[in-house]
Amino acid sequence: MHGFETRAIHAGQEPDPRTGAVIPPIYATSTYAQDGVGGLREGYEYSRTGNPTRAALEECFAALEGGARGLAFASGMAAEDTLLRAVLRPGDHIVIPDDAYGGTFRLVSKVVERWGVSWTPVPVGDPDAVRAAVRPETKIVWVETPTNPLLGVADVAALAAVAHDAGALLVVDNTFATPYLQQPLSLGADVVVHSTTKYCGGHSDVVGGALVAADAALGDELAFHQNTIGAVAGPFDAWLVLRGLKTLGVRMDRHCDNAERIVALLTEHPRVAQVLYPGLPDHPGHDVAAKQMSRFGGMVSFRVADGEQAAVDVCDRARVFTLGESLGGVESLIEHPGRMTHASAAGSALEVPGDLVRLSVGIETVDDLLADLTHALST
Ligand SMILES: *Cc1c(COP(=O)(O)O)cnc(C)c1O
Repeated sequence: MHGFETRAIHAGQEPDPRTGAVIPPIYATSTYAQDGVGGLREGYEYSRTGNPTRAALEECFAALEGGARGLAFASGMAAEDTLLRAVLRPGDHIVIPDDAYGGTFRLVSKVVERWGVSWTPVPVGDPDAVRAAVRPETKIVWVETPTNPLLGVADVAALAAVAHDAGALLVVDNTFATPYLQQPLSLGADVVVHSTTKYCGGHSDVVGGALVAADAALGDELAFHQNTIGAVAGPFDAWLVLRGLKTLGVRMDRHCDNAERIVALLTEHPRVAQVLYPGLPDHPGHDVAAKQMSRFGGMVSFRVADGEQAAVDVCDRARVFTLGESLGGVESLIEHPGRMTHASAAGSALEVPGDLVRLSVGIETVDDLLADLTHALST
């Protein structure tokens, strides 16, 4: 098998047979001419069911995650919704992280629950807690690692064993790590979920999602639901994500390089009370992260010593770091989770500390990022 970057650049992307175009065209078409009734060309019939640009992306995703089948969706949430509807039935149970991505928490607690599915939020960093939470009706153990915004780490191999002992699937949301840094299917997970809006797209110019199934039969089942539900990635969006994936490796290396320099600055800074980064030896998930990730990623959170208002002020004073939600683009972003991405979690089990600041470290010149944070942290 070819190396990661070779797959990212070539998988699913043979030069166009007619023109030799090296980049898959954006097939902006809803339907396809048939050579006589039922005479489909390469199986293409209607673009909800299949589109060559999307197919290229789907094949590339399967190759990058090492799965039997990849599927591309209109958003990360569309991918999650399709997966949950494909697998769950009334009476089933799902285990979710107690610090799940807010949209995942909302989907499970406000929508999936209404179909008669019960759920238990669990600290998935503790495999024993997950083992205690699974029941005969448990069909999915859902994991994110690292988590948002506290950068908790879950042991994918250990949780795969727990899920499989219970007859459940292990689903890993691999949005933060990307397949470049972490390959959950190789650790025993059954399905990988992505918000391709983040690092995979990588340029903050597209919203998208993906699923990759380890097993072909489950992949076919998910494809049936993808076509039935219809929340597919459009051809232009698929093309943007495909373009983003080509540089995923070099971008992630630079995200990690810059994040490491920023972590070094923050850990020495007198106004920073705590730095949350799985690459730090004192991070509770460091050993597991070191085992299952090749590097520790571009997301860094820290707590400001003087409390919530000081944390808000740091966010307001940054200039090169853009104040904004989302993550994973080439540009650096700063945000206050308690009042922005995680405001809706206030008062719930998912509430985050008010003195917390989250950085999505971009790939700008690192000295500019360091100077900007030094300025933002000055009093
Ligand atoms: C953004 C995100 C999602 C949701 O993806 P959308 O593309 O916004 O629908 C899911 N999981 C994680 C970890 C995310 O960061």
